[in-house]
Amino acid sequence: MYRPPAEAQSVLIRVADGCPYNGCTFCTMYKNVPYRIHDHYEQIQSIVEAAQVTPAARRIFLADGDALALPMHMLEKILKHLHEQFPRLARVTCYASGRSLLQKNQKELHELHSLGLRTVYLGLESGSDTVLQMLNKNSTSAAMIEGAQRASQAGIAVSAIIMTGAGGQQYSAEHVSKTAHALGYMRPRQLSCLRLIPIPGTPLAQQIEQGQFSPLSEYQSIKELADLLSALPSWPCIFRADHRSNILPLAGRLPKDTPALLQELHELLATGYLLSDGPGAYPASL
Ligand code: SF4
Repeated sequence: MYRPPAEAQSVLIRVADGCPYNGCTFCTMYKNVPYRIHDHYEQIQSIVEAAQVTPAARRIFLADGDALALPMHMLEKILKHLHEQFPRLARVTCYASGRSLLQKNQKELHELHSLGLRTVYLGLESGSDTVLQMLNKNSTSAAMIEGAQRASQAGIAVSAIIMTGAGGQQYSAEHVSKTAHALGYMRPRQLSCLRLIPIPGTPLAQQIEQGQFSPLSEYQSIKELADLLSALPSWPCIFRADHRSNILPLAGRLPKDTPALLQELHELLATGYLLSDGPGAYPASL
């Protein structure tokens, strides 16, 4: 089961298998997992079994990808049952997409919040529609901004995920400026920055082999992250770039820590240690 790094302490409860879309060019998370929403009996059984193991759990993450895409009546039953089984439960979280956020109306999002849904993790990846199309992301920047804004209005915190290198060399500048712009509209409570890693066998890796996509060098990846941090509008946000894909692990609170984070990045750029002719070694596992 996949979960965001911030959910390391959460109990994971699977309410569906896989991702309802499963088409992004860079993603292998659920490639061999046919999408299936668990039936009511399976969902209740998973909740009861988890409660027997960790009855005092305070945090629960609903898996797999885009659990918010489940029908409203199902999510309501799941959330109510979680509170019955976990008396100390403080927060429920899940992955969401622009599509699943917009499928719920404002009243429904408020209802989900009142039932304990506290945070949704949204893979924006890029604020550029050109880049999103290249990644076959199945959503526009505008749709994800609107979905995030509606979630925030309902009291559900948004944790946005973006990727350095998502536009490759060709669209790096556009990726930076439009992602900063989109995040300024979205104003997520948390911002996680990963680095695009071409995993063998993915359409993205094939595009690189065929010369259709030029990945950033190590130096360009760090430079792009520095440019993005510099371009971000100011709003209070927890920032993390400490996923294994990142070259330099970083974390802080924006905008307070922006100067210190930029200094770290610029110091690394000035060392001369970063490769400028290739992406360097990718992490062995993600
Ligand atoms: S929506 Fe998320 S889980 Fe589904 S294919 Fe895209 S990146 Fe992977």
